[in-house]
Amino acid sequence: MKICEIFYSIQGESTYSGLPCIFVRTSGCNLRCLYCDTKYAYENGFEISVDDIIKKIKTYRCRLVEITGGEPLIQIDEVNKLIASLLADDYEVLLETNGSIDIKSVDQNVVKILDLKCPDSGMSENICWENIKYLTDKDQVKFVLSSRKDYEWAKDIINKHFINRKNEILLSTAYGLLKPADVVQWMLNDSLKVRFQLQIHKYIWHPNVRGV
Ligand code: SF4
Repeated sequence: MKICEIFYSIQGESTYSGLPCIFVRTSGCNLRCLYCDTKYAYENGFEISVDDIIKKIKTYRCRLVEITGGEPLIQIDEVNKLIASLLADDYEVLLETNGSIDIKSVDQNVVKILDLKCPDSGMSENICWENIKYLTDKDQVKFVLSSRKDYEWAKDIINKHFINRKNEILLSTAYGLLKPADVVQWMLNDSLKVRFQLQIHKYIWHPNVRGV
């Protein structure tokens, strides 16, 4: 499969934020979000077998692995093989996906972090809404906001689809496009029961640093 990078860092998002984690960043993405911070993953990469990825992962003393991209599910067969190998080896596996590709075949033991693309990403027309029915309770749903309009849109989606579900809902800002304090105030004013998150790796290191 084609991989952009494999590295060991701390998880910057989701309820796993702050934990040491091994990242497998796949190469290629079917979307082009206006705020994308991983454009280098569109083309850059190298071919590597699932077995060799596992060998590399085993060089780190860590049992949490996140598969991210780019968009991992454009290589869904290989990604599912990688997931199967990791689960067989008792790794805890997170999968971050942009919400445009069917997640039905992904093993239910994986924690999926499903990004629902807000209107100002420019990509909300690509959302595969069917995915909501394949979420398990431990999966997490993420909205990256670029504007007040995105916040209102996310609020509507949360009220429509997630009010009676157990999924953790994560709100964050597209880095540099929206003030975190504004979003937090809107959430508080609306008593919106969601988790606000910052991409903490962008505060620990320079926001443009790769492989962290
Ligand atoms: S889905 Fe992710 S990698 Fe793809 S364009 Fe959007 S932000 Fe970038």
